[in-house]
Amino acid sequence: MGVAPSPGEAATGPALVAGVDYPRSYREFVEWFPDAAACSAYLERLRWPDGFVCPACRSAAAPWRQTRGRLVCRLCRRQMTVTVGTILDKTRTPLTTWFEAAWHVTTAKNGMSAKTLERTLGVSYRVAWTMLQRYRVAMVRAERERLSGDVEVDEALVGGVEHGGKPGRGSQKCVVLIAVEVKPPKGFGRVRMRHVPDASGASLVPFVCEVVDAGAVVRTDGWAGYNGLVRRGYAHQRTVVSASGDPAHVSMPGVHRVASLLKRWILGTHQGSVGAEHLQSYLEEFTFRFNRRTSRSRGLVFRRLLEQAIATGPVTEADVTHGYAW
Ligand SMILES: [Zn+2]
Repeated sequence: MGVAPSPGEAATGPALVAGVDYPRSYREFVEWFPDAAACSAYLERLRWPDGFVCPACRSAAAPWRQTRGRLVCRLCRRQMTVTVGTILDKTRTPLTTWFEAAWHVTTAKNGMSAKTLERTLGVSYRVAWTMLQRYRVAMVRAERERLSGDVEVDEALVGGVEHGGKPGRGSQKCVVLIAVEVKPPKGFGRVRMRHVPDASGASLVPFVCEVVDAGAVVRTDGWAGYNGLVRRGYAHQRTVVSASGDPAHVSMPGVHRVASLLKRWILGTHQGSVGAEHLQSYLEEFTFRFNRRTSRSRGLVFRRLLEQAIATGPVTEADVTHGYAW
């Protein structure tokens, strides 16, 4: 793979295959990322596509390179690694493990639960859970563009069964707001989801304003909670379900379909054991995967996740344990 990088030169990392900057199969993944140095070099390309910029002093001089992936800024002399100030910072888990987790999360059709990841990678449950939670925070950043065109919005009730299928404490259903782009006659575009305390206008309207483009047509049922949308400048189309005589899956096919996929994913991949304090994290993962379901390569989705991970600020242990403050 050419000459090893000498001090001061950019790390070369894995060879680009005809400009394709992501592994296209598990076999290629294994070849590309045999050790921490290969992972660091890849992250460097994602973080600084136009060359190193010091996160401390913003100078763009090529850094000095030390052992174990450490970089030293020529100007401010700060010592760092490529993961400094990101969700991958200060982790005792090797980068190769982080990469493998990212690969499985993005390439398995339905993702992977912490339990399955624990077994697959041979790490502790705590490590698997922490990686998943941090990646879910990175996934949020990838979903900033607002939905447009025709957008259905509705509430769904999710959860209600805790560990072992026994209803008990925390068995209350959670209200999840779902917005889906609908593309006639039968297609769907992107989705956005939010776990909210209730289905009042105070929950609904800010959600729509945040995730739906002002020029969109918003379709809802007749619920009064949506009354504020017109005042916010949206073209609002209501279908009063009882008046139309159609069941909800006919008048709102998008949200109905997405809600049932979401529930199936929580029950199947995660055995229904999703605590209310972590529900938003799961919603972010579902959204990230759903919005990339037609991506031409899973490897591309893998690269996208790492790209976001290296651009996302640190997550505290408290966030990982008690739920992220969304
Ligand atoms: Zn510097």
